[in-house]
Amino acid sequence: PARTRFAPSPTGYLHLGSLRTALFNYLLAKRTGGQFLLRIEDTDQKRTVSDAESRLYQDLRWAGLQWDEGPEVGGPYGPYRQSERSGLYRQHAHQLLDNGHAYRCFCSAERLNTLAEHRHKLGIATDYDRTCAGITKEESDDRAAKGEVHTIRLKVPDQYPIYTDLIYGVFKPLKRRGHVSEAAYEDPILLKSDGLPTYHLANVVDDHHMKITHVIRGSEWMPSTPKHIAMYNAFGWTPPEFAHVGLLVDEQGNKLSKRNFDTDITAFREMEIFPETLTNFAALLGWSHQEKSDVMDLKALVDKFSLKFTKGNTTVTFGKLHFLQRKHAALRAKAGGQGLEEMTQHVVNLLSDPKGPYQGWKKTIGSTSQTTYISRVIQADAENYTNANEFVYRNSFMFGPLEHPTSLTDAEGIPQAAKALADVREWKREALMDKVHEIIDGRAGGKKGSKDVYHYLRKALTGREEGMRIYDVMLILGRVESLRRLGVMDV
Ligand code: GLU
Repeated sequence: PARTRFAPSPTGYLHLGSLRTALFNYLLAKRTGGQFLLRIEDTDQKRTVSDAESRLYQDLRWAGLQWDEGPEVGGPYGPYRQSERSGLYRQHAHQLLDNGHAYRCFCSAERLNTLAEHRHKLGIATDYDRTCAGITKEESDDRAAKGEVHTIRLKVPDQYPIYTDLIYGVFKPLKRRGHVSEAAYEDPILLKSDGLPTYHLANVVDDHHMKITHVIRGSEWMPSTPKHIAMYNAFGWTPPEFAHVGLLVDEQGNKLSKRNFDTDITAFREMEIFPETLTNFAALLGWSHQEKSDVMDLKALVDKFSLKFTKGNTTVTFGKLHFLQRKHAALRAKAGGQGLEEMTQHVVNLLSDPKGPYQGWKKTIGSTSQTTYISRVIQADAENYTNANEFVYRNSFMFGPLEHPTSLTDAEGIPQAAKALADVREWKREALMDKVHEIIDGRAGGKKGSKDVYHYLRKALTGREEGMRIYDVMLILGRVESLRRLGVMDV
């Protein structure tokens, strides 16, 4: 069983990319009968957005990604908020100080800035020249005891460890020595001068203590992983497995950002995208499966999940989102129950909006209850449902008088013949079908003219050229309204 975690920093809301990361971790845990943890990485308090955490909980739960351990649910390795674990990180930084894998750095901010500028000019990416690595333990302890401001840095080995990524295979970090541009040591800071940990330290300490077995995260973290492994080695711990997934990019190859739709997932919810649509959509961004169909709810995703990801970035196009939404709408309609009720409620709200265009619709439904009527309409055209507004617009003939009553005058006697539907007393599908067939057979040309008959019925009943099955229209509208639309005066 895998223990996985989603470890967001509360610096913003859940967006498509982070939802996908959370989802993959959730799926791996559930697939293997393990646990999915939520950990809040709030070590950078300056960047924390006040309601980010509560929104995150809300959005994850909306998507169905309930965590087994974490804030609000607890668990054996808590607390699950890094700001509440500072003591643990400090203790671990000191452990590395004691075993020689870390050292105190007393360099001032000004010196580090000058160093960074200098290196930047030389085109050197790494950031520290190890001035403080040579300070003796006695001197270091002494200066610290006197209260001199310092950070604690990891003393990385001469060669970063090689590791095997579950997606990318063997990852060989650049050699750090022997080339002028790589001559500097990048000894990452573990503990900042305020005594709080950096991301690197807190992340590694927590993954170890929380017994995480697999880390699935965005490929932007891949260059950090050798540092993390070096840290695991320094502690004498076994690192978890790492699986990095490619970034999400738009069709121009730009990383998804607010401008090109990687907004927080509330935007999808406001579009009335179903959670199962969004998780289905997110799962397909980089993950590949062997199934015949791409349509999978969360449970099916759990059943089918594997770590088969494509390397490299994933282009996001939203056509698929709408395709999946229609598919899931059809599944909801078929299953009945809560999913259908929710769709129905959206439509009810829209239709009862006093400022909306549909106030007249209640006349159409006669005695049927509002929600029964609406859910029947939804069931009849669910494969085209995307959201309430589009749905009602598409099927507006079911929610009010026809905007353009048919002007098909006499299409070869069809309007007259169609009035025979008035003979149908028991308004049932079978009887209606029999009658329509009878009308078709009764005309010159017989079956060859069936298309014309159906076309007329559709035009007369809905005012449209296409749409849901005509028998559904008649059944849902009911006898009186259907016959009225067919021009039968005396219903
Ligand atoms: N806190 C990091 C983030 O916000 C977590 C990265 C990781 O999964 O290690 O992306």
